[in-house]
Amino acid sequence: RRKQIVQECERLMDKPENIRNIAIAAHIDHGKTTLTDNLLAGAGMISSDLAGEQLAMDTEEDEQERGITIDAANVSMTHEYQDTNHLINLIDTPGHVDFGGDVTRAMRAVDGALVVVDAVEGTMPQTETVVRQALREGVKPALFINKVDRLINELQEGPEEMQERLQSVIGDVNELIRGMAEDKYENEGWKVSVQDGTVAFGSALYNWATSLPQMQETGIDFGDIIDYNRNDNIDELRENSPLSNVVLDMVAEHFPNPEKSQPERIPTVWRGDDSTDLAESMRLVDDEGEVVFMVTSISIDPHAGEIATGRLFSGTIERGQDLYVSGTAGQNRVQSVGLFMGGEREEVDRIPAGNIAAVTGLHDAIAGSTVSSVEMTPFESIEHISEPVITKSVEAQTMDDLPKLIQTLQQVSKEDPTIRVEINEDTGEHLISGQGELHLEVITQRIERNQGIPVTTGEPIVVFREAVQQASETVEGQSPNRHNRFYITVEPLSEDIVETLQLGEASMDMPELERREALQEAGMDKDTSQEVEEIHGTNILIDETKGIQHLNETMELVVEGWEEALDDGPLAAEPVQGTLIRLHDARLHEDAIHRGPAQVIPAVRQAVHGALINGRISMLEPIQNVRIDVPSEHMGPASGEIQGRRGRVDDMYQEGDLMVVEGVAPVEEMIGFASDLRSATEGRASWNTENAGFQVMADNLQPETIREIRERKGMKLELPAGVDYF
Ligand code: GDP
Repeated sequence: RRKQIVQECERLMDKPENIRNIAIAAHIDHGKTTLTDNLLAGAGMISSDLAGEQLAMDTEEDEQERGITIDAANVSMTHEYQDTNHLINLIDTPGHVDFGGDVTRAMRAVDGALVVVDAVEGTMPQTETVVRQALREGVKPALFINKVDRLINELQEGPEEMQERLQSVIGDVNELIRGMAEDKYENEGWKVSVQDGTVAFGSALYNWATSLPQMQETGIDFGDIIDYNRNDNIDELRENSPLSNVVLDMVAEHFPNPEKSQPERIPTVWRGDDSTDLAESMRLVDDEGEVVFMVTSISIDPHAGEIATGRLFSGTIERGQDLYVSGTAGQNRVQSVGLFMGGEREEVDRIPAGNIAAVTGLHDAIAGSTVSSVEMTPFESIEHISEPVITKSVEAQTMDDLPKLIQTLQQVSKEDPTIRVEINEDTGEHLISGQGELHLEVITQRIERNQGIPVTTGEPIVVFREAVQQASETVEGQSPNRHNRFYITVEPLSEDIVETLQLGEASMDMPELERREALQEAGMDKDTSQEVEEIHGTNILIDETKGIQHLNETMELVVEGWEEALDDGPLAAEPVQGTLIRLHDARLHEDAIHRGPAQVIPAVRQAVHGALINGRISMLEPIQNVRIDVPSEHMGPASGEIQGRRGRVDDMYQEGDLMVVEGVAPVEEMIGFASDLRSATEGRASWNTENAGFQVMADNLQPETIREIRERKGMKLELPAGVDYF
């Protein structure tokens, strides 16, 4: 039977009009896993006895234990709709916002997002985050409202109350869609509606669902559904209105196939020259064109090694091809190609354009790589909605395990580019940085459990930033031999420009004209935008000098000194962000031998640090939005857990039978929050956090923080000269 299904998938892979590439966007616990399992079971891909137990999507052991989905795992299934068989490729997205980078990547590879919302809880912060990510990537939404059985059985709602509640969920989701994609909402049917058939509802647990088209076909209305549920007649409802049919019909009917979507999406996700044959073959989903494959995730298979999964936009991918990997020098040879059937990888001979493929042999690829048969402009740099905010050290308990630990850490950072791995050269420790305490905990547990390497970990350390608060005066930097001088000012960049840089909408990889336009659009004046010499993180170097002899040949060193100065800010050697730096003037020695790296780099560094201090550089700390759901009798202690952490409670309101507390707190203070909240509320509270960027620390906290970091890093303890403004 499995063989037959594989053959059918292979047949369908060549018919782009029958393919749907989709993702599920949901808040944790709203039922994504249960839904996926029952879709797979309904489509005959896994046995229905196993659905629910098998947890096809949660393949990693730690995910099953924790009940959260961490890596984007992938499944393919077939579904017959209007007498035509369809191939549905489902890319999994993680359910915890600590893993936001994976979500964005998954959304790049799909054309439709099935938004799953718990009917009782309604839309939650993570529903919003994930839906925003989908819309930002140009992915069309449809809505499945889950756990409707609870409205009937637990809340004893009648047809009117139920409809009201469903309408309110639909309204919330539409508000999000309109906010992010107004044009498509108004004009292209992106508004989700019962009438259009872009909303379905039901119970993933009891395996039934309905929608307006389904009600019209079967004559089963709300009243009947309530009767089936109350009279213990679920089996019959399941037979008449099976979940997988209703949901997959909606997918087949309303999500665009690759031929329809690629012409629209290629210009949004790819910045290369749209007049080339390559661009044309991507828009046309041409299986005879050059291979263009965007890797969305890397997983490690104990036998096959690294498996790169992603979307094939053009060409046909086959074993033995030598393909370029963006950001690396050489080529990798494809060892095998396959698809994920019910979560298991099945090798096939070839995969044509428009599909999701699982490829082995691409050793140099990381999540986000562009892999292609010709050298090409890569897909946009993958947007990282949140940068790492927390670091901890990891050491193998026995020296023998060290090589294995290093290899595992390299793999981990390939699988999840939101994780960074570094070696502290002074102590030899390995440092891993990620999105939150839980994120790092999951990674270290994976090293211990899956790789069997006992490790010792350090205390989690928060990553800070440094940023200037005002424009500086001109500051001179002098080389050690006193023959070279640089004159520099700094000023803060506007929030709009910083965001443009963060989103990769202006970068040095893009054509100059496009970059200028993007910066001007974000508010930079025309002259400045024409003098951009380099971009580093969220900082920009402007060269305002005119006709200085030898500066051209020295510029590379100037940039190097500038980058060094920004990587290790003057206060506590934390990264500098959001700064515009202008080089106004320079004096250079005639003779190249007297203006080498040992002269220029320290001079530029001195000038930049001096100017940053003159512009009142300050420490910024990462903050998180926090939401707690808690029974009202525990509300006081719960909100106290936010307030007691230098936090602020912004809102408290009732939702269903629970109180919701919303606030903000510094990441540093949130360490240990989970266990403190549990004891403060007898374990009755559930909570979420979401990284909310960086904020300037209060002046009175700055000296202490700077001293602590300097001490930890083994730097001199006193504040640098000129920092007397706190
Ligand atoms: P995920 O975190 O989004 O993958 O959610 P799961 O599929 O793991 O579901 C979370 C919990 O909700 C589990 O205990 C499920 O059994 C339960 N659940 C899922 N769907 C339904 C449903 O339709 N009705 C009810 N009553 N419970 C459900």
